[in-house]
Amino acid sequence: MRNFSGTKRIVIKIGTNILTKDGGLDGAYVRQIAAQINGLLKSGRQVVIVTSGAIGMGVGQLNIAGKVQNIKMRQACAAIGQPLLMAEYRKSFLRYGVTVAQVLLTAEVLNNRKTYLNLRNSIETLLRLGTVPILNENDSVSTEEIGTAFGDNDRLSALVASKIDADLLIILSDIDALYDKNPREFPDAKPIPVVFEITQDIIKSAGGAGSEHATGGMKTKIEAAKIAANAGCRMVLADGRAKKVISRIIAGEEVGTIFMPRRKLSNRARWILNSAAAGVINIDEGAMRAVRAHKSLLPSGVISVDGTFEAGEVVMLNNNAKAVTSLGSAQLKVLAGKHSSEIKRLLGPGHRDVVAIPEDIVFIDY
Ligand code: GLU
Repeated sequence: MRNFSGTKRIVIKIGTNILTKDGGLDGAYVRQIAAQINGLLKSGRQVVIVTSGAIGMGVGQLNIAGKVQNIKMRQACAAIGQPLLMAEYRKSFLRYGVTVAQVLLTAEVLNNRKTYLNLRNSIETLLRLGTVPILNENDSVSTEEIGTAFGDNDRLSALVASKIDADLLIILSDIDALYDKNPREFPDAKPIPVVFEITQDIIKSAGGAGSEHATGGMKTKIEAAKIAANAGCRMVLADGRAKKVISRIIAGEEVGTIFMPRRKLSNRARWILNSAAAGVINIDEGAMRAVRAHKSLLPSGVISVDGTFEAGEVVMLNNNAKAVTSLGSAQLKVLAGKHSSEIKRLLGPGHRDVVAIPEDIVFIDY
């Protein structure tokens, strides 16, 4: 039996495929979701929804199924579909006197420390007001090409859960659980009820992509589980169409797969871990041993750098860790392999001779 009695703050991600029926939004389904979430609010919990379906709604409205391949059309469809989606949520929640709020996000907003703190404040305020914030990616302004897109709402929901310190992330999908092999290919595939550690085997068995308008699939769900696992947040993946699925999960029923957290990193460490790396600092074995032992990274341990980055940006240290670098790539190219005394002699005593302090280094493989 799972126990969610102490769970206060819940993020629920709802996928396109379960929100839609016959090409349109399934109003009856949204009403059921609202009823269950209202139950959670009444028990003193806070709920944030991350919804997909904007693009699908836009496609339905324009009656152009099968013709939405390019980014411009996806952006246009999202702009058309998002208000339709919100109207349905609003109507369904109003039956219970619950106000909903729309928040649209881009990867830029979450990556940037300042805008992310603004976001955190506004979600906190919305939750304090007793409303249900409903989040989606701002598809009309974000694209993968310019690096502003999450691309999928699975990862987005996990990042949001991590940023607002949620205790639980529920991913409602047309995939009802994680299986030991791909259930679409192997009829004898068995669901895995609990995952304590996301191993290479699990990543391999996760396999393929989603459907036409949804971008998910098992791969992005595993990525979401990893983000949640580093934020001390449990994640349940379940069949969104199963009867009263949210209420049953919270009651402790063993539906779907639960991914258990591994560690609860500090907010800053999570920000470092979840930020896109601007480059790579290649370091030698001795330096890697030192940073693993919670020592600072010094220029003497740096072999080379890949990419162009400024001081203050997040970079990779080999394949093992992410760090906020105090030195930009141009400076590092000059200082790589040099000892602190040499640096002082070369650049004067006031110059920084540390690449990253232990608090700014987070291991991915630990
Ligand atoms: N943001 C997209 C939408 O609302 C969906 C992305 C996803 O399916 O993960 O249509």
